[in-house]
Amino acid sequence: MTDKTTNPDIALVPCNARPKGQNGALCPACDRFIGPLDTCPYCDLPVPRTFSLRFLRFASLALAVVGMAALYLLARQDLRPLVKISEVTPLMNSASVRVAGLVATTPQISVAGNAYVSFPVTDGSNSLTVVAYDRCARGLMGATNCPRRGDIVEVSGTVSITRPGVRRIIMEAPEQLKMLTRAPARPGKDGSDGRSDDP
Ligand SMILES: [Zn+2]
Repeated sequence: MTDKTTNPDIALVPCNARPKGQNGALCPACDRFIGPLDTCPYCDLPVPRTFSLRFLRFASLALAVVGMAALYLLARQDLRPLVKISEVTPLMNSASVRVAGLVATTPQISVAGNAYVSFPVTDGSNSLTVVAYDRCARGLMGATNCPRRGDIVEVSGTVSITRPGVRRIIMEAPEQLKMLTRAPARPGKDGSDGRSDDP
């Protein structure tokens, strides 16, 4: 390398004069390190790039785009595990889970003050109470899929077991309720959301 810096007028050197393992990293004219640049910043010589380096640049860009797209799709999916309600134990307190089952009674809805929506879900193995507060509750009330008695729903949320025997799942967003089967509308109860059907 030192013998070439003493001869800066050399315009071209044979390709095989480049040190092995640094293919394209050195300017063929001035032999200084230029990395992946297309033009030498020292002597302005255009440096022809080998296919592999150009390919790698586009491949890395494509890989980044594909990776971001995959991340976005994964983030949109609800990856919480679907569990049987009987499997929800105090050990799972604060865990994020998904359960599916029947809305056993008409949901209790309160709009005054701290709004909440609460309804029991049973899946045959056991039952628990699903609760939504404030913004989530208001969003649920306004949604077309606000649960009614007899609906079969899938709900995800955070397990909250504060007292033995009282098992709840707290929803954080209305989108965490997925309507699987809508209960048939009851004839003769126009305008009612089933509240009058309470046993
Ligand atoms: Zn150069």
